Amino acid sequence: MKCRGFSLMSGGLDSQLAVRVLERAGAEVEAICFSSPFFSPDTAIQSAKALGIKLNVIDFTDDVISLIESPKHGFGGAMNPCIDCHSMMIRRAGELMVERGFDFIATGEVMGQRPMSQNKQSLGIVERDSGLKGRLVRPLSAKLLEPTIPEEDGLLDREKLLDIQGRGRDRQIQLAEEFGIVEYPSPAGGCKLTEEGFCRKLKDLKDHETLAERRLVELLAIGRRFRLPGGSSVILGRDRCDNALLKGEKGDVILAPVNCPGPTALVPSLKCEADLELAAELVCSYSKYDRLIGDIVVQIFPEGAAKAVPRPYVREKFKEFQIC
Ligand code: SF4
Repeated sequence: MKCRGFSLMSGGLDSQLAVRVLERAGAEVEAICFSSPFFSPDTAIQSAKALGIKLNVIDFTDDVISLIESPKHGFGGAMNPCIDCHSMMIRRAGELMVERGFDFIATGEVMGQRPMSQNKQSLGIVERDSGLKGRLVRPLSAKLLEPTIPEEDGLLDREKLLDIQGRGRDRQIQLAEEFGIVEYPSPAGGCKLTEEGFCRKLKDLKDHETLAERRLVELLAIGRRFRLPGGSSVILGRDRCDNALLKGEKGDVILAPVNCPGPTALVPSLKCEADLELAAELVCSYSKYDRLIGDIVVQIFPEGAAKAVPRPYVREKFKEFQIC
């Protein structure tokens, strides 16, 4: 009987190659990917489909939020707790491995590809912290690492695993041709926790409110963000698509101009009346009022009140309150 493994799938080329190399070494492979408000499983879904393998999608939101609150190994360049996040993903995958009676977990990591997170020491930390010692296979660099249990047991043919290292992509491109892999996204990107602008919003939420409320975290992906002097935050739609997504729930305040085109604003938790006045002025300052004679009328929900906001509407006034 073939050995069975779960391979972590980002959808990028290395994670696709890892699957094919494992299959060539004698394994039956299913993929695992993770979803959260910070990264989407869409690319992994497409890649698993192209590879013709089963994909298991695991909701990782609570895990990654707990790591942002308290990252044991700190953050990368932004608010990305990569070492801990990676260990936690492998730990979750390991739980599924035990539950389903699989033999190993694999990743598409390449030694030395990312100097901070994919050197021998970091790879060792991830293996130790994930609690999967001996069961974590890195098929693209396996020959540069200690043999794992499935290799020692002869379930995975070590000779068919690889010894890629460093940042060059030549061998991966060559292997992609060999395996007939034609579509793959660029190796970088995809995680909002590495984006500076997004992380400014995340830090603001962490400092002023809470990351425990999933909806507040999900709203970070939408619009411009302001923190007003009274402590209220305002999410201002950038375009029609954002405006449509800014739907209020109980306790929220929504503002939108009535007599000219302009953005919708969502105030998730209004702290004071002065902030409401400012939020209405903010909406006006981003509205298209060139052809309007008179003042902009702003509708405020849930009160249902519509109020005229007197000119002038000065966008610069809000620069100091803008997070992103
Ligand atoms: S880039 Fe994002 S998803 Fe990937 S390990 Fe780092 S924090 Fe986790």
